[in-house]
Amino acid sequence: MSNVRVRFAPSPTGPLHIGGVRTALFNYLFAKKNNGTFILRIEDTDQNRQVANAEKYIFDALSWCGIPPDETIGKNEKFGPYRQSERKHLYKKYANELINSGNAYYAFDTSDALDHERKSHEEKGKTFIYNWHNREKGRLTNSLVLSKEEVQTRIDKGDKYVVRFKMHNPEDGENITIGTTDLIRGYVSFKKDILDDKILFKSDGMPTYHLANIVDDHFMEISHVIRGEEWLPSIPLHIALYNAFGWKAPEFVHLPLILKPTGKGKLSKRDGDKLGFPVFPLSYANNQTQEISRGFKEDGYFSESVVNFLAFLGWNPGTEQEIFSLDELVKDFDLSRVNKAGARFDPAKTKWYNQQYLQLKPNEELATLYLPILADKMTQSNSTNKITPSISHLSDKNYVTKVVTLIKERATFVSDFWSLSHFFFQAPTSYDAKASKKQWKEETPGLINSLIDVLTSMDDYTSKSIENVVKAWLTEKELGFGKVMPPFRLALVGAMSGPHLFDIAEMIGKEETINRLEKAIKTL
Ligand code: GLU
Repeated sequence: MSNVRVRFAPSPTGPLHIGGVRTALFNYLFAKKNNGTFILRIEDTDQNRQVANAEKYIFDALSWCGIPPDETIGKNEKFGPYRQSERKHLYKKYANELINSGNAYYAFDTSDALDHERKSHEEKGKTFIYNWHNREKGRLTNSLVLSKEEVQTRIDKGDKYVVRFKMHNPEDGENITIGTTDLIRGYVSFKKDILDDKILFKSDGMPTYHLANIVDDHFMEISHVIRGEEWLPSIPLHIALYNAFGWKAPEFVHLPLILKPTGKGKLSKRDGDKLGFPVFPLSYANNQTQEISRGFKEDGYFSESVVNFLAFLGWNPGTEQEIFSLDELVKDFDLSRVNKAGARFDPAKTKWYNQQYLQLKPNEELATLYLPILADKMTQSNSTNKITPSISHLSDKNYVTKVVTLIKERATFVSDFWSLSHFFFQAPTSYDAKASKKQWKEETPGLINSLIDVLTSMDDYTSKSIENVVKAWLTEKELGFGKVMPPFRLALVGAMSGPHLFDIAEMIGKEETINRLEKAIKTL
C-alpha cells in the first residue's frame, strides 16, 4: 500500500488505558507493515478535561512499549504543530468556511433556553434534538433565522455562540443514509435526518473534537483512521464533514472493544481494582486526588509480553502461534484478521504471557533484574535483622545467574524469585510445620548426623557427585530414600519445595550444607 499515514490521537485527560495502547499498537503495526508513517497527535481542545501530566504519560507509555511515533511534537514535524491547542487558527478558518458555504451556522441559544427546550420536549415524552426539525422554527436563536446584521452585532458585542453543522437538509429527502466502508465491519450507515446538528466550534475560540479531528486528519494526510469502536457513531458526521469540505475521506477502521474479564461491558479501572490487575501500562499518580493507579510495568510485566497480549485483544494470526515479537507482529499483522466482536480481557492469560517471556529471557538479564531486589534484602537485613544471609552471594552476579537458571521455570515475575530462591542466600529461618511433623521423626537426627559424616568426607562437592555418594550410602546402609531425603530438603530449604536438592547443596557449598543440617537437628 502506498503512502500509508496513520495517527494515534489521544486526549490527554488522564493516564492512557491499555485500550488506548492497543489502538496505538494497531496503528503502529499497520504503519510498519505498509512502510507507512505512524503519527502521534495530541487532541487537547477540551481544556476543561486536560490533566497536566497526561501528555508526558502518553509519550512514556508508547516509548516503554517500544512503539514510538515517526512524527509528533518535536519529531519530524512535517505537518505540525501536532498539539491541537497550537492549531486553533486553522479550526476557526475552516469553521468559517463551512458557514460561508452554507453547511454550518451560528447558534446563540443560551444554556437556559436549551434546557427549557429539553424540558418541554420531555414533558411531551419527546427528546429534544437540535436539527432541521426545529432550527428554523423561530424558537431557537441562530444565524438561519436572524438577519446578517443582527448576527454580526451579537458577535461584535461578545455574545456567546457556537457553530453548528447542518447535518441534514429537508430538501435532501427523507430516509437518506450516510456511511462508509469500514475495513473491519464492512459498510456502516446511519440515517441522516434523525441526527443532531453537532457543535463544531465555540466562542472561546476552541473547536470541538469533530472539527479539529477532521481538519487535522485532512492536513496531516492521514490515509487510515484506526480507532476504537466507541467512535463509530461519529462516522456520519465525519463523512458529512469531509463531503462539506469537498475533501477525500480516509479509510476507517473501528477496533473491537476490550471487554471486562466476565460479564458485560468495557474493561474499566474498577475491574482491575476489584480483581487485582492493572489496566494502565505505567503506574500513574493523580495530582488532584493523590490516587496511585498501578501499571503493568511496575507490576513486573515485561513490555514485550504486554505488547504481545495486547495484539491478541482483537487480532489473531490464524495459526497456533501465540508468542510474537514486535517484528513478527509487524510481519504478520493484517487488518482482515481483526475481529468485529469485542475482545475479552483475561488477566490469567496476561500472566501466562509474562511467564513465557520470562522463560525466554537470558538468565544473565534476569539476574541483572534480580540483583537490586537482593540488594534491598541486604539493606533490610542490616536494618531490621529480618534477613540474615548466611552466604555472601547476594551481590555475586555469577551465583545469582545460576540461581535464576534453577528457579525461573516456576516464576511468572522477577518479583517471584525471592520466594523461590531465598534458601540459596540464607539458612531457613523457620521450618514448614506440617512438613516437619511428617518428615522429622525420632530416628531422623541420627540419620542426619550420619549424612553429615558422609558429606564431610567428600572432596568433589558437585551436584552429581553428592547425588552419587548419598545414593550409594543409602543403598549400602539399606536406608529408604524417604527417610533421609525429605528431612535433608527440610533442613536446607525449610519446606518441601525448591529445585533439585543436590543442586541446592552444590550451590550453597559443603560447609553451609552441614551448618544447615546441624541447625535442623538443634531446632527440630
Ligand atoms: N481524541 C480522540 C480520543 O481521545 C480521538 C478519536 C479518534 O481517533 O478519532 O480517543
